[in-house]
Amino acid sequence: MGSTNTNTTERRMFLPFQAVANFFKEPGGPKCPECASVIIDDACPNLDCPLKVTEWITRWCSPEALNIPGLGQPEAEQLAKLRLVLHPGELYGLSPGDWARIEGVSADQLDEIQRQMEASKSPKPSALLHGLRLPGVSASMAKRLIEEIGSIDSLQETKPKRLQEIDGIDEAMAFGVYRWFRDSVNKQALKMLDQNGFNFTD
Ligand SMILES: [Zn+2]
Repeated sequence: MGSTNTNTTERRMFLPFQAVANFFKEPGGPKCPECASVIIDDACPNLDCPLKVTEWITRWCSPEALNIPGLGQPEAEQLAKLRLVLHPGELYGLSPGDWARIEGVSADQLDEIQRQMEASKSPKPSALLHGLRLPGVSASMAKRLIEEIGSIDSLQETKPKRLQEIDGIDEAMAFGVYRWFRDSVNKQALKMLDQNGFNFTD
């Protein structure tokens, strides 16, 4: 803005218009530090936000989930930023050429990651559910859901009303879980994991 030639009076007269302009420019508070989308319900609403994808991949690889310690935060961040991965299912479809684009991964580390990814394909159902990172589903909640509902496949068909009968699940979370399974990216993730040998029926 032309601050050099603006005297005080002009500035004062301009202020209300500036306030209106700012109001329309920033429709609602804090923004995601990664992709600048306006935060809704404490989360970035952008489906392919690299920050969100990084968090999902990091959860997936954690010891309580699929246990792939070779793939850490720095690698997850790069996979997300390069848009090589949008969900954990895509980890299992990465080519050697894709991996070559990730900085700081030696051939030995890549062997280790691939060995750990292969071993991750037969997890406990609760660990797999925790890795899918449904809203509100912590490691302990994942165990409780599997105990109560039986399998991830059954959970997918469970109505919010039934979910609300479970200790620690309120209406918002029940609908959050129900909706998670109906989201297109999540459906794609489940399909790709299924194609890579993951089992959701146990
Ligand atoms: Zn974002």
